[in-house]
Amino acid sequence: ELSCAGAPPSPGAPDDVAFLAALVAAVGAAHVLTDAAEMAAFLRDWRGRFHGQALAVVRPGSTPEVAAVLRLCHGHRVAVVPQGGNTGLSGGATPAGARRQIVLQLGRLNRVRSLDLANGTVTVESGCVLQQVQQLAEAHDRLFPLSLAAEGSCTVGGNLATNAGGTAVLRYGNARELCLGVEAVMADGTVFQGLRALRKDNTGYSLRDLLIGSEGTLGVLTAAVLKLYPRPRARATALVALQGVADAVALLGQAQAALGPLLTGFELMSGACLQAVARHRPALAQPWAVEPPLAVLVEQSAFDDQAAADDRLQALLASALDSGLIQEAVLAQSQAQAQRLWAMREGISEALQHEGVQAKHDIALPISALADFLAEAQAALDGLEAPLRLMLFGHVGDGNLHFNVVWPSRGAQADAALHEAVNTRVHDRVAAWGGSISAEHGLGQLRRDENRRLKDPAELGLQRALKQALDPLGLLNPGKVL
Ligand code: FAD
Repeated sequence: ELSCAGAPPSPGAPDDVAFLAALVAAVGAAHVLTDAAEMAAFLRDWRGRFHGQALAVVRPGSTPEVAAVLRLCHGHRVAVVPQGGNTGLSGGATPAGARRQIVLQLGRLNRVRSLDLANGTVTVESGCVLQQVQQLAEAHDRLFPLSLAAEGSCTVGGNLATNAGGTAVLRYGNARELCLGVEAVMADGTVFQGLRALRKDNTGYSLRDLLIGSEGTLGVLTAAVLKLYPRPRARATALVALQGVADAVALLGQAQAALGPLLTGFELMSGACLQAVARHRPALAQPWAVEPPLAVLVEQSAFDDQAAADDRLQALLASALDSGLIQEAVLAQSQAQAQRLWAMREGISEALQHEGVQAKHDIALPISALADFLAEAQAALDGLEAPLRLMLFGHVGDGNLHFNVVWPSRGAQADAALHEAVNTRVHDRVAAWGGSISAEHGLGQLRRDENRRLKDPAELGLQRALKQALDPLGLLNPGKVL
């Protein structure tokens, strides 16, 4: 467990008393939490790996209130940690270090500002929960395609701040590609009004794209214009057994050629992950007598009808079976069966919590390099004297692997040393293949130092210059990203 060292801030200091009183005047006493028990849930991350300290948890209810809070923080030199649903996996929304800081909880910014079906857009505040946006789109016969296992509690602000990925990136792109405009409050309280609903706008540098993926270190997102898509009429889903990742990549190529933009999911799960899910939830046991080394979940979205969708997927799988590329396949016969197949995929993270100590890696590589990378990474881990098990799954259609290494605990100190050795070996191989050490979860505090170790110094220098220009006092989410 990593907790931040150092003395807690001293809310009794005279300046803190004046600062807290000014916060209460700005947002109301009910929305400034200073009691330790009330603040606790906002001061630790979802996994319980990071714990932080803050003068207060502040919950503004509108953009002018966010601006007022940021002006106060700027005047009093107090740092700000933006937080949405607090489901992030890199410790980005948890305060780091012992400086004077507040958690800016954005959950009350949860209004839908406008819906423009002719333009295919919805404008929402950043505290809206992702699932509510999906449901709103569906109620108007549209699709908002961003989809991830935390969708019932993560927020649009957190999705954009981490440029979230999920299971539909293959067809629709990351959060950045789903957003046309943003409104944000900058470090000194200035409101950047960029809620443009345009698909073309080449009027200078894109502040929208800079703020998206900046993990709360460049500005606080308060609202966004999101793109809506036509809602598919049918979905065909299959689980396919294969021998290895090279075959999965070959099948991906065939599926893209056969289905084009109808291919909306291509998720990889190792046999070891399927076994872990079955141990944890026996109702989700994989359907074959013999465990395959690897399985892929293929999903096709269609705009004609279910029978046509099933026929197309069946034709693809029959041809792959004939050529020996795949060994077996199960085509879902109902939406309930399709949901069960997705539940196997979505149950992996939870199942792995029961398998031992985990070194998790959220990595991305060129799809063409996946098989060679895996062979090299496994060889690098074989050099370690430990009973390591690789639990591999991920969004293979995006080149994004969740490369998780699991072992039985050997005591906190030995586990920490092994964790570091595994991380270094895996990330060194990722860097050698031109990959990313954080494909979709952001750097937060978890990967900040590792990024510094591996990133080109010139690129890091440019990023620091941007941070200095937009937040010269270093008040926005200190200790994260850079
Ligand atoms: P938080 O955790 O509150 O914050 C995340 C970061 O964004 C922090 O740095 C925070 O400071 C910043 N931030 C939050 N709101 C704002 C704002 N309004 N303005 C500026 N900065 C802000 N992620 C994926 O990409 N793909 C997945 O498939 C995926 N699966 C997940 C499955 C599970 C079970 C869990 C728990 C998480 C998963 N995640 C996944 C990670 C996480 O859910 C996403 O990163 C999500 O987008 C974070 O949203 P949030 O509102 O919870 O943000």
